Amino acid sequence: MLQIKDLHVTVDGKEILKGLSLDIGDGEVHAIMGPNGSGKSTLSYVLAGREGYEVTGGTVRYRDQDLFTLNAEERAREGVFLAFQYPVEIPGVPTATFLKTAVNAVRRHRGEAELDAMDFLKFVRARAKELEIGDDMIKRFLNVGFSGGEKKRAEILQMALLEPTLMVLDETDSGLDIDALRIVSEGINRMRGPDRSTLMITHYQRLLNYVVPDHVHVMAGGRIVRSGGKELALELEEKGYADIASAA
Ligand code: ADP
Ligand code: MG
Ligand code: MG
Repeated sequence: MLQIKDLHVTVDGKEILKGLSLDIGDGEVHAIMGPNGSGKSTLSYVLAGREGYEVTGGTVRYRDQDLFTLNAEERAREGVFLAFQYPVEIPGVPTATFLKTAVNAVRRHRGEAELDAMDFLKFVRARAKELEIGDDMIKRFLNVGFSGGEKKRAEILQMALLEPTLMVLDETDSGLDIDALRIVSEGINRMRGPDRSTLMITHYQRLLNYVVPDHVHVMAGGRIVRSGGKELALELEEKGYADIASAA
């Protein structure tokens, strides 16, 4: 699904990713953990194709294509979905309008018929209900004045509607209370399947109690310094990052 080899990335003249390698197979859920400033968000931005991130070395292959030959929009159409640590607010655009545009763009790309207003409403309401999102929320402008938990649920709703192939979630658990964490985790778990892979970036272990990963990686100083199974997350919780990063 995703094969990252010796990736080097520079931001504003400063090297942030320093030889990161990671291999994610079909249907696998991988977690990347690591201290603040280790380059986790930089990795998600590079995968998304955000401007200002200069790839100075290495390769990223996504389903047998060179990811870097696709622009940000093309990546999204090809099934790469990124949920960012800080979702953008879009004043003037109701959430439902935004979602309908995104869903129909993907459907056009897949050669499927676009959904009309009625069908879209049925589709969005069914998915929204699972995430405990009411009509009032989808009528509001996207993310404007949403609480932290509402923003994350809106993002998972968008993901559920777009049915991506690769999901990259950057600190989707940050700022969530326990109920919101459960709702968001259940939303992610519902999407797990043999043809869809997930990269979860998280600073804390608690999300991984709900969305149990197949592989856990520790990132420090712009590369992966240790990999293991789900038990690695528990070890990190116990020992902290300092020990693991310095032992690597
Ligand atoms: P994480 O998500 O693991 O906390 P980030 O990827 O956000 O880490 O940041 C990694 C490092 O890159 C940090 O030291 C941060 O200060 C630096 N960095 C991020 N963006 C920029 C930028 N635009 N200019 C300079 N340094 C940056
Ligand atoms: Mg594997
Ligand atoms: Mg970050």
